[in-house]
Amino acid sequence: MLGSNDEQDPPELGDMPPEEFRKALHRVADWVADYRESIDALRISPDIAPGDITAGLPQAPPDAPVPFSEIFRDFQNLIIPGIVHWGHPAFFGYFGSTTTSAGILGEMLMGALNVSTMTWRTSPAATELETLVLEWLRQMLGLSRDFTGVVYDTASVAVVHALAAARENLGVDARARGLCGRPEVPVLRVYASDQAHSSIEKAAITLGIGQQNVRRVSSGATYRMDISALRSAIEEDLRGGLLPTAVIATVGTTSTTSVDPVDEIAALCREYRLWLHVDAAYGGAMALLPEGRHLMKGVEAADSVVVNPHKWLFVPLDFSALYVRRADLLRATFSLVPEYLRGDAEQAERNYMDYGIQLGRRFRALKAWMVIRSFGSQGLATRIREHIRLARLFASWLDADAQFEVLAPVTMAVVCFRAVPHVVGSMLALDEDLNGLNSRLVEAVNRTGQAYLTHTTLNGHVAMRLAVGNVLTTERHLATVYDLIKREAVRLLPFVGGSH
Ligand code: PLP
Repeated sequence: MLGSNDEQDPPELGDMPPEEFRKALHRVADWVADYRESIDALRISPDIAPGDITAGLPQAPPDAPVPFSEIFRDFQNLIIPGIVHWGHPAFFGYFGSTTTSAGILGEMLMGALNVSTMTWRTSPAATELETLVLEWLRQMLGLSRDFTGVVYDTASVAVVHALAAARENLGVDARARGLCGRPEVPVLRVYASDQAHSSIEKAAITLGIGQQNVRRVSSGATYRMDISALRSAIEEDLRGGLLPTAVIATVGTTSTTSVDPVDEIAALCREYRLWLHVDAAYGGAMALLPEGRHLMKGVEAADSVVVNPHKWLFVPLDFSALYVRRADLLRATFSLVPEYLRGDAEQAERNYMDYGIQLGRRFRALKAWMVIRSFGSQGLATRIREHIRLARLFASWLDADAQFEVLAPVTMAVVCFRAVPHVVGSMLALDEDLNGLNSRLVEAVNRTGQAYLTHTTLNGHVAMRLAVGNVLTTERHLATVYDLIKREAVRLLPFVGGSH
């Protein structure tokens, strides 16, 4: 163990002495292994107030070097108490956690190498592994060979790139001339369902398309984009002199994992010559299952597709794969070779800096390569299938319990539900009471520290939302959260359970 006695004085120049680094690394490795092994016993979310963590830390940077033992002690004592343990197997918020041992190891090695995947020459293995991993993923997803991939950090950034290419495809030369002060360029319009992710609006903001030019198309009771509403919106915009540009179809929406009718949307895109971007950030993982591949029907006609292995394919944050049909167009949109990289850029046909706004790029492919190899495509599929089974099991418990209502079909591994407690004397609480109760229930469950949920709103109803996605989650964790919800419901509403 590393104690203050066996540490040498911190060096004036250079880095930590090698022996000290080795000891520190072993210590960190042991901590990570212990953390992973005992994470189940931790309180998931801290019971602290905003500012509590900052209050425990010095507000000015240290003038003198601080020994690693002290830094590590503060990490454990001052930082960890403010961490939400996303990797806890009863953390069911958002889209669960994709932490895996192989992913952690990959991140550690990435940190050690710290190379930048700008051009092939800046790190040939990083570039070639990125191409290879994207090819493996393409095969696993069953995407056509026509698609070329690029890795970004997130789906939010991927959609910026997809829409930038769509904008370039219009032929208005927005790359060179921008959009402002050009009366000859009509207002661009982008369409997405009212269930689609907010990152589309952020992309429109970023690209000068404008937030209000993302038209939200109704999805109705099924949470799937209404195709006739889409057609009417496009027609109305055309009549108004606007320029319909792109449609975003979602496979696995954030709230309910609903799937838009991609094939019908693709037909409309063909008819009106619009760019089709498919947001399969979460739902794309279903394509690894023969029984899930039908959900991607129509994706083969897309111009761009994003899939996030950091959402359900067990690669830790961050790793988002964008596939485009026309890599040349993406390249034409972003390629800009500064003089000092000209020599590098001439070395290979694929320099990833040409396909996006980032120059410096992490070697993300390494962790994905390690995860895919560690589990194999069969192992990945088996885990996804298990998550779907667990989500359905949870929904079946709710279905059998008159105090709960499942609010959306369970198509993937997310369950949206609410408590509908029976009041003694048989009548149900009013809708607004139910919304308040269900919001408070999510808060109450999370306050216990034993499980973690998030919420959403569906057709005006506040829903609790449980997402299974962690390789460590088992039936026992589902039972824990189910019992907690029932216990907290009784506590919040003492008359729950009185009528059946
Ligand atoms: N698309 C969908 C359907 C999502 O659910 C999310 C995030 O939850 C995103 C895109 C944005 O993902 P990221 O966090 O990778 O930007």
